[in-house]
Amino acid sequence: NEQLKKATECKPIDYPKPDGVLTFDRLSSVFLANLAHEENQPDHLVLKNPQVMIDVNYKEYASPETRYCPAGVYEIVEENGSPRLQINATNCVHCKTCDTKDPTQNITWICPEGAS
Ligand code: SF4
Repeated sequence: NEQLKKATECKPIDYPKPDGVLTFDRLSSVFLANLAHEENQPDHLVLKNPQVMIDVNYKEYASPETRYCPAGVYEIVEENGSPRLQINATNCVHCKTCDTKDPTQNITWICPEGAS
């Protein structure tokens, strides 16, 4: 996380679209991981301060969690004209990247409920 650059210091990378043969979109790959979570299990991705995800991550780093998470867990959605971070925790593949890569160490990954 200490090496993460602010959005103003970076150029967007134009990745080719997945071809469905050798490369696949993230959610198709999450499906193949065959993980199962109870929809109502306790949160295992905890934000120390939810507002930091907009004030710092969104405004200064263009929400890096929406790119580095391999499972598409983090999404920015517009709500009444304002950005809001949505966490799709049931997609998580438990790589723990968000716990280490978040610029302000605001995301805490904790061991999820068992049986997955
Ligand atoms: S641990 Fe974090 S980065 Fe990894 S899949 Fe889960 S939410 Fe995404």
